[in-house]
Amino acid sequence: MTGEHAGDSRCPLCGGRLQSGLATVPFFLPNTVVLIKGVPAEICSSCHEPYTTGQVTDRIVSLLKPLRALQAEILVLSYSAEPCPVEEALVSVGV
Ligand SMILES: [Zn+2]
Repeated sequence: MTGEHAGDSRCPLCGGRLQSGLATVPFFLPNTVVLIKGVPAEICSSCHEPYTTGQVTDRIVSLLKPLRALQAEILVLSYSAEPCPVEEALVSVGV
């Protein structure tokens, strides 16, 4: 079990204190690098590694799914709870 209690989380990499915030997180798909901005995460105050919670990770996985079909090398999108981020992603890469 890893400690999920708020306020006393520690970075597994360096032991730094984790603070809630918004992070830009890269994801590496087979053909595409996706940068997702504004991801709610626990961010290490020491090494700045962002850690997403399970719920956010699930959301990101579903955000990434439709992007696998796109032939773009880099996509930038904003994390959102909305069901369809693809249009915004296409705007971001100027398609
Ligand atoms: Zn750290």
